[in-house]
Amino acid sequence: MSKLTSCHLCPRTCKINRNTGKTGFCNLDNRIAVSAICNHKGEEPIINGTKGICNVFFSHCNLQCIYCQNYQISNNKSVVNYKKLTDVVTEIKSVLTLSDNVLGFVSPTSQIPQMISIIESLWKEGIKPVVIYNTNSYDRIESLQSIEKFVDVYLADMRYSLNHLAKAYSDCENYPETAIAAIREMYRQKGSSVLTDKENVIERGLIVRVLCLPHQTDNTINILEMLADEVSTNIHISLLSQYFPPKPDLPYPLNEQLSQHEYDRIVNYALKKGFTKLQTQELASVNYFCPDFSKDNPFI
Ligand code: SF4
Repeated sequence: MSKLTSCHLCPRTCKINRNTGKTGFCNLDNRIAVSAICNHKGEEPIINGTKGICNVFFSHCNLQCIYCQNYQISNNKSVVNYKKLTDVVTEIKSVLTLSDNVLGFVSPTSQIPQMISIIESLWKEGIKPVVIYNTNSYDRIESLQSIEKFVDVYLADMRYSLNHLAKAYSDCENYPETAIAAIREMYRQKGSSVLTDKENVIERGLIVRVLCLPHQTDNTINILEMLADEVSTNIHISLLSQYFPPKPDLPYPLNEQLSQHEYDRIVNYALKKGFTKLQTQELASVNYFCPDFSKDNPFI
């Protein structure tokens, strides 16, 4: 895979040759590293449809957030389950039969060439699901341009507006300016409209996810400012209240949960700022988002 000979798929730009087995920050070589392929109903309702989607959870991640809710598989020190392309495609085809013909790739940034080879294999068999690129948005613009024809929907996090927080929680000080530039590119590709089929299942678009961290309301409000000023108030925003401390040893305030008061303040600010395509959550939804990747389907 030529893009991996001097890897600069993501803004870490490790420039190592992953085709020779070497690994950079994400600790992945050129094989397909997948932790789970399963039917998943835990995304936004417009994405889930009635039957859920087929989600491919790639292993490892180029961010390493210390509070990651998928830490069992996203930790770059975790054991990688490399799979053959034919096996991955067979599993996807099987899970797609249970789902609404929507295929999500979770944490795909470090495995873009692998993702493309999966999609092309499906296309060769005449299988053309709606493809979702579910990303932390620490993406390079060139990489996003290279996948424009393969991706129908961007499901993009915007995690930090404050550089010191990005450094402390994800060792990624330049996240705010990098991620907002990536989201601007996704917006250029997909615009502000989310298109759905007659069953109201998503077909094309951009949804920006903002995970509201406890006691970090200023960070979240600044994110909304950045999105309004540098992208558009006409984009779809999903304001996530589902944060929970996934591990016992997290520092304050990550060892707490978001309060209703904090969430209400954020929602009110988003409305005041002019965002109208707003997806909100009940705080109680935290109980539904505790995956266990030691199980075949981490969400059951
Ligand atoms: S994808 Fe991995 S190896 Fe490539 S630049 Fe990013 S972190 Fe480094």
